[in-house]
Amino acid sequence: MKRIAVLTSGGDAPGMNAAVRAVTRGGLARGWEVYAIRNGYQGLLDNVFEQMLARNVGGIIQSGGTVLGSARCPEFAKPAGRAKALSNLRARNIDALVVIGGNGSQSGSASLAAEGFPVVGVPSTIDNDLYGNDVSIGCDTAINITLEAIDRLRTTASSHQRAFAVETMGRNCGYIALMSGIAGGAEVIALPEHELKPADVAGRLRAAYQRGKTHALAVIAEGAKCGVKELMEYYGAHRKDIGFDLRVTRLGHVVRGGIPTAADRVLATRLGAAAVETLAQGRHGVLVGIVKGDTAVTPLAEIAGKMRPADASLLELARVMAI
Ligand code: ADP
Repeated sequence: MKRIAVLTSGGDAPGMNAAVRAVTRGGLARGWEVYAIRNGYQGLLDNVFEQMLARNVGGIIQSGGTVLGSARCPEFAKPAGRAKALSNLRARNIDALVVIGGNGSQSGSASLAAEGFPVVGVPSTIDNDLYGNDVSIGCDTAINITLEAIDRLRTTASSHQRAFAVETMGRNCGYIALMSGIAGGAEVIALPEHELKPADVAGRLRAAYQRGKTHALAVIAEGAKCGVKELMEYYGAHRKDIGFDLRVTRLGHVVRGGIPTAADRVLATRLGAAAVETLAQGRHGVLVGIVKGDTAVTPLAEIAGKMRPADASLLELARVMAI
């Protein structure tokens, strides 16, 4: 291995920069040349490469987002787009590519690997929905930002004897909702991984009111079948029976920004370095992730098109803690 390239793709996640730094410095430490590609797969198609030296990744470990830029690139999902990407990589004699990104981005790396180019994926998504990996770069920060919002809403909910429904991000995965809901002491958590009807959510809020609680919090994952819209409609029709007034807060993209937590910076540093180490061992076509606390590699072909669901069995723990 002499010359590697690195890009960040898909939804930005706090800690991506720490991963770029780790790949860059890990590669340089081995005497390799490292090139950054701007704006994800789009930059690969546009042939935008920039040689990275150790100082180019100075002062970025603490910043959210990605200094390399990210983009969604539909052209890359088509064989003709990837053929152009392959020809750009080969024209520059790049030996391997490190893709820092989420589920879609790693499906892209799986395609590139299947078409014969050495790729290593690094899981980075606040959704934490990548198969073959227990924890993705960015999700700890997103959970903590979500939790801070939940804690703040609890203060006002308690003062006004209200219920709050907080919609969290996470696409079709309920991981952020589950973790922030447990940490925030939510009365009810609605996930895509577990069927819950608006009447069930409202019933839990009513029960909390009847038990004398001064507030109640429902944490609703954006992908849950019982979304905040359905809950508000139900509430509108049954308000009198429930006790609490209900307010809705949709957190949206605000949880994607911000300073990466220590956990995300350490994770990104470990995974970025492990991606380089994997290439040094002559392995590629894999995702480098964390499984049971250790770094582990999983073939990209195995993870493409799959998803890691949140552990819905923890909902029972949350339910007991809300008595
Ligand atoms: P994320 O990586 O955060 O899940 P996206 O799903 O938007 O973000 O994917 C990022 C990019 O990865 C897409 O714009 C596209 O270029 C590429 N991509 C997504 N899915 C595929 C696929 N099935 N095959 C090839 N490339 C894909």
